[in-house]
Amino acid sequence: MGPAHSLSGAAAWTGVGAAAGAAGHPMPWPVVVVGALICAGAALAPDLDHKSATISRAFGPISRALCGVIDKLSHTVYTATKMKGDSRRAGGHRTLTHTWLWAVLVGSGMSALAVVGGRWAVLGILFVHMVLAIAGLLWRAARGASDVLIWLLGASSAWILADILDQPGNGANWLFTAPGQEYLWLGLPIVLGALVHCVGDALTVSGCPILWPIPVGRKRWYPVGPPKQMRFKAGSWVEMKILMPAFTLAGTMAGLDALGVL
Ligand SMILES: [Zn+2]
Repeated sequence: MGPAHSLSGAAAWTGVGAAAGAAGHPMPWPVVVVGALICAGAALAPDLDHKSATISRAFGPISRALCGVIDKLSHTVYTATKMKGDSRRAGGHRTLTHTWLWAVLVGSGMSALAVVGGRWAVLGILFVHMVLAIAGLLWRAARGASDVLIWLLGASSAWILADILDQPGNGANWLFTAPGQEYLWLGLPIVLGALVHCVGDALTVSGCPILWPIPVGRKRWYPVGPPKQMRFKAGSWVEMKILMPAFTLAGTMAGLDALGVL
């Protein structure tokens, strides 16, 4: 599911770019490109509650330790807030980090960090998401490469992209234009990426409790998803042969539209 999550994340951001252009807030090209990459990376983030996920292995011992903490936290929150209709669970996978509230909290946290923390915070956010985007989008190729190589690639692209965004008119103050609001928009592709991940999971076998903490019937962790017959297995031919090419095509078209080429 890694590459499908990342691809759909990137495509969703170029869609936002096309919509923003139509609504009178055209994205400078670096915002289209950097936002799509951030969104591709952020679309892997909710699986930080699962130890074999790409993100949990992407930053060596640091992400492995964080994964353990997130899994425990998720399980605790699940148990503390479950209602009569919610089943008992052994672990935290696909709970807390797979909700709209988590997406909004993480995204606004990153926006705040970018605004308060200045250049180094922006570089840090870019670095983490570039590494994830590389791991997600290049999947098989990245799996063969050493972690250190991917970190170096992530760090250098973060550095270069931050320099490009910093140029006047290139989008540090896209959408939020008041002084002191530079890079406030960085949280948007992060929220979007997490939501796109949840939708992706909802379409697969077990659904996704995206609405939490809003209860549905007797369940607070209601697994949102289409009827069982319409769900498909992660990694199935539908994903590989239909969805992935469709995301690529739709994302490219929207991207070209956002850039004003179409
Ligand atoms: Zn997931």
